[in-house]
Amino acid sequence: MSDSRRVAVVTGGAAGIGWSIGQRLVADGYLVIAADVVAGLTEGDSSILWRELDVTDHAHVSTVFDEIVTEFGRIDVLINNAGIQRHRSLEELTWSEWETVVNVNLHGVFNTLQAGGRHMLAQGEGRIVNISSVAARGSAGRAPYATTKAAVIGLTSTAGAEWASRGVRVNAVAPGYVDTGVFREGIAAGTLNIDTILSRIPAKRLADASEVAAAVSFLVSDGASYMNGQTLYVDGGFMVDYGIPLAKKPSS
Ligand code: NAD
Repeated sequence: MSDSRRVAVVTGGAAGIGWSIGQRLVADGYLVIAADVVAGLTEGDSSILWRELDVTDHAHVSTVFDEIVTEFGRIDVLINNAGIQRHRSLEELTWSEWETVVNVNLHGVFNTLQAGGRHMLAQGEGRIVNISSVAARGSAGRAPYATTKAAVIGLTSTAGAEWASRGVRVNAVAPGYVDTGVFREGIAAGTLNIDTILSRIPAKRLADASEVAAAVSFLVSDGASYMNGQTLYVDGGFMVDYGIPLAKKPSS
């Protein structure tokens, strides 16, 4: 391979947060491969390569990761970002809706984590970031989403513990609310309400996808060399505030 750039794979990298992560990693000097079921935003953009990948297909994931290593020599960074959600009350949720979300958000992360991790262990180094969510603590109307995002945190800490001594670091980023696909679906479905959300975010604004990408960039950098198994919240303070307003502003 003549290209000397480090190789980064971003699942779900064709749109939204994944796209922004890809752009950031390109700026950081990586050769970026967006692995996605759709080509999406990567069409016509030569700075990010695209590989068709359905993260739910265990055997196919393994084949695609083998092909990437054959073609590009190695995988230095893997961002497990592909994610979906379904909006339904717990009692009305169908098995199909539950299964579909679990397949992408949990089994998908396992599939790519294992396939990418095996190559990184063989190389003796690698950096992985899994994308969780503040919804991991519970989110009414989004049972499979919240459950899988919590499971991703457990998988992250476990992988971090297993692979820490073998040169592979695994961490997670849990974004707050970002104006991209998953968030827009929630607004459209009526499960998420923008005014309620903004009133409960101490920063009083949504995150920009680039702010999530900046945290990912840090976690895969040498600056995070002693971080492993951690979940970094990028949420404008959402997780540390119960949303009870001050009775009066402190005097300055
Ligand atoms: P998005 O819908 O804009 O993008 C998701 C991408 O994943 C799409 O390109 C889609 O084609 C791809 N994808 C879906 N199923 C796939 C599969 N089986 N295999 C491969 N790719 C697949 O979503 P987003 O809002 O950018 O969310 C990205 C990640 O960030 C998700 O994991 C989501 O749960 C998480 N997240 C989003 C928010 C938010 O507010 N938007 C907040 C917290 C966490």
